[in-house]
Amino acid sequence: MSLIVQKFGGTSVANAERICNVARIITDTYKAGHDVVAVLSAQGDTTDELIEKAAEINPNASKREMDMLLSTGEQVSCALCAMAIEALGYPVVSLTGWQAGFRTNSGYGNARIKRVQADRMRTELDKRRIVIVTGFQGINKLDDITTLGRGGSDTSAVAIAAVLGADLCQIYTDVDGIYTADPRLVPNARKLEEITFDEMLELASLGAQVLHNRSVEMAKRYNVNLEVLSSFSGQPGTKVKEVVQTMEKSYISGVAKDKNIARLALVGLQDTPGIAYKVFSLLARNHINVDIILQSIGRDSTKDISFTVSKGDMEQAQKLLEDNKSSIRFDHIDVSDNVAKVSIVGAGMVNNPGVAAKMFEALYNAGININMISTSEIKVSVLVHITDADRAVRVIHDRFYDEFNGER
Ligand code: ADP
Ligand code: ASP
Ligand code: MG
Repeated sequence: MSLIVQKFGGTSVANAERICNVARIITDTYKAGHDVVAVLSAQGDTTDELIEKAAEINPNASKREMDMLLSTGEQVSCALCAMAIEALGYPVVSLTGWQAGFRTNSGYGNARIKRVQADRMRTELDKRRIVIVTGFQGINKLDDITTLGRGGSDTSAVAIAAVLGADLCQIYTDVDGIYTADPRLVPNARKLEEITFDEMLELASLGAQVLHNRSVEMAKRYNVNLEVLSSFSGQPGTKVKEVVQTMEKSYISGVAKDKNIARLALVGLQDTPGIAYKVFSLLARNHINVDIILQSIGRDSTKDISFTVSKGDMEQAQKLLEDNKSSIRFDHIDVSDNVAKVSIVGAGMVNNPGVAAKMFEALYNAGININMISTSEIKVSVLVHITDADRAVRVIHDRFYDEFNGER
């Protein structure tokens, strides 16, 4: 007998019929002799709707109260799914994040899991009950409810799989695996049989929301056997693992897009040593993550520095810099959230020169302007206007189509 953790996303539990479908997947696994812990997301767009409800009442609600509110979506889907399993005649118990032992730090809205005290889950499993756990949440040292950040139910599932030493962690979603690009955007994207943790981590961090990036990081650290598959199709999915078996795999693994970013440009900065240090240490002290950075060549003893942050940090970053204008000394800040980052990812890129040139050529042929560029050994990212982002993903994917299909 083995232990299987199964996670079901919002679309998979969106209505009564789909909850019954999920209940069948869970009970079929249980019937086959396995122990099952299922982690559920909130139904459909519930989390977005709850955010809208809060904004109607108080657009500046505290993060603590937001977490109190947002955690309720998962409680609803879990209770309903447990009821569906009861109706099928199987032993089941649903647990909230705190009942399941999720202890997090205090970072409301984006809390990190410190540990999972899994005694209650183990006791229930020993009684041969199916355990249903609310994704995306835990409690902090004040016993307040915290949430793990959007898409965080994947991370809840992987944490449970790691702590209980599960044989398999299945992430059921609305596509039947991980593709070379979002299949909703790129119809001829190729489904991958397997992908390495490192490549998936890069894709997820660059915006491929099919897996929460922290779930991939954790699966790698605890060597969790991870699979992404569809709750609708019954087809085999994509395995995410340390080493893939394909002998000569393609040197690029996918194209990703991230619209959740903003660009700030500090114009007319003093061209003196220590300016970059002042700017970025100020942001770091205030927990603002900076991604792409571009500095212009100095002219007339001034220079410009542009950088990107996540959309949610844009206003705070702008305010911090304005407030410190007397010590940092610049002319003005130009801010835009009409930008998106499009990236190509692949571990084999380092041995294959010309990936960036080919990507830029595809964008040039499509008349898409590049605002910023950033490269590493396994990715090339460009910043483009948000209205060009989807087209950019398509033309880049088309340009590398042969590589994605193993023709090179
Ligand atoms: P869930 O609610 O099940 O967690 P998400 O919406 O978070 O589902 O993630 C699944 C979605 O991720 C898919 O519907 C797809 O549009 C998107 N996606 C983005 N990039 C990829 C990719 N490379 N492969 C598969 N899906 C992707
Ligand atoms: N319901 C949460 C969200 O929409 C968590 C998740 O689905 O993973 O972000
Ligand atoms: Mg998700």
